[in-house]
Amino acid sequence: MDLALSSTLAPRFLPQRLPKVCLAVGGDTIEDMLATAESLARENPFLEFRLDYLKQPLAAVPKIHRFLETHQYVTAIGTCRRADNGGKFKGSLAAQLEVLTKANAGGCQLVDVELQSALKAKPEAIAKLRSRAGLILSFHDFHATRKLDDTLEKMLKIPADFYKIVSTATTLSDNVAMMKFLQTHSGQHSLIGLCMGEQGIISRVLGARAGSAFTFGAVDADADLKTAPGQISARDLRGIYRIDQIDAATRIYGVAGDPIGHSLSPVIMNTALRRENVNGVYLPLHAKTLKDLIHCVREIPLHGLSVTMPYKQAILPYLDNTDAHTTKIGACNTVVRGAEGKLYGFNTDIAGILRPLEQRLSIENAKVLVLGAGGAARAAVFGLKERGAEVWILNRTAAKGQKLARQAKARTLKRAELKKVGFDVIINATPVGMGNTRECPLKDDEIQARVVFDMVYDPVETHLLQVARSKGIGVIPGVEMFVQQAARQFEIWTGKPAPVGDMLRAVTVALQERAAQKPPKN
Ligand code: NAP
Repeated sequence: MDLALSSTLAPRFLPQRLPKVCLAVGGDTIEDMLATAESLARENPFLEFRLDYLKQPLAAVPKIHRFLETHQYVTAIGTCRRADNGGKFKGSLAAQLEVLTKANAGGCQLVDVELQSALKAKPEAIAKLRSRAGLILSFHDFHATRKLDDTLEKMLKIPADFYKIVSTATTLSDNVAMMKFLQTHSGQHSLIGLCMGEQGIISRVLGARAGSAFTFGAVDADADLKTAPGQISARDLRGIYRIDQIDAATRIYGVAGDPIGHSLSPVIMNTALRRENVNGVYLPLHAKTLKDLIHCVREIPLHGLSVTMPYKQAILPYLDNTDAHTTKIGACNTVVRGAEGKLYGFNTDIAGILRPLEQRLSIENAKVLVLGAGGAARAAVFGLKERGAEVWILNRTAAKGQKLARQAKARTLKRAELKKVGFDVIINATPVGMGNTRECPLKDDEIQARVVFDMVYDPVETHLLQVARSKGIGVIPGVEMFVQQAARQFEIWTGKPAPVGDMLRAVTVALQERAAQKPPKN
């Protein structure tokens, strides 16, 4: 089949038939580029060949042609972005258009031309290119998200099949601007819109919901293989965020914190949403300020929000109402946005602590030692007291432990007294042991109880739990708390019982994968 001929027919059908995720394929040599394309094509049949990455793009076109002849299911974009516009091509405008013309003849059904090049070229040259290829007219702003409507107005003067606007997000609210832009104009024009940068990650998923014809994914999560900052891997876009199923009715949830990149909440919550057939997606929100976050929650709008450090206390003044646990603990980890836009705060850490415990023993009258007096310890102490346990607090800074004990009507303990009291449960609510270290909050002979609960969940099996297990003591790993507090959030948001088993499996696998990637510390 003559691919060049077939590609002339393609544009009319493309908007409906295109996959939701395109992968940009770079590489220093055409051999590298094709090896990458070969490894991706079966699972990702929509590829953008970044010809500007090559020293001799024209010479590479016949090889791309051969690749596309043997991979006819692949839809390909040919791009030769100029250095001035964020690419690597330094040749003349005529040379750029020649590369794109040849790329189309070589089987790339779509070609990408930047607005700046299109404005400099003769209109006939662009029209000629478009007579055979689907034309993506693109504009990149590497600094900000601004003047989206004005930019589109300029772009519409040049007839194209797709108008692609890529901006840079420096706040979460920039994503809101991009969403609104897409929602306003995607009914009249075939648009591709997204924000680059870590702050813009959510636009890659939400763009699909707001009307972007498709989005761009990274080859994998490795920064070296990304062709634009803030890309999510295509595997995660499809597997975790289910981009193929996202539509205008998809409810949006998220986890907000600073930093947030390490959070496993998207893995666990998207697993739950998928398992329970909820048309929803859960995103990581890197919020640098609360004001920005709240604007995003109200405007996107977000249906539910998990709140993590450093905003668990600071978010309280923004909430219209809170549950009794939030008030007692003085921290909120769950927000629901009501139909009328009001924000309601909950604290599910208590459920995360009590649920795994009550599966092992009766909490009423149980003697419990809590190590630590921070936010997580507060949830444990208040939750356990509420359920009739006897609670002792041992904290590095004694005064902080005493203050919590007074507030919750619990007792404090000095380290020297540890062996004098027999406990049913010891809970570690300090970060000691986190990050694959062999640190332990207690000495081996101080670990005496029926159950040891370590809130630390990375690594899954901390040194504290290893020692406890070796002594025949029952153990509760921090992942159980992590899963149960998330399960309670899921229930609050959806009204459905959470698929706890699937959530636990998903987070355990993710933690194991993470552990395999980093060398153990000694
Ligand atoms: P936080 O508010 O910062 O409190 C930390 C507490 O640990 C403080 O009482 C602090 O004592 C103590 N501490 C810190 N470093 C210590 C050290 N080297 N030796 C002894 N004590 C130390 O933190 P948080 O939010 O309560 O979190 C505590 C731990 O629980 C973290 O590891 C967190 O990841 C984990 N957590 C797990 C879950 C879960 O779902 N599994 C949920 C929430 C929290 P001072 O008062 O002396 O500073």
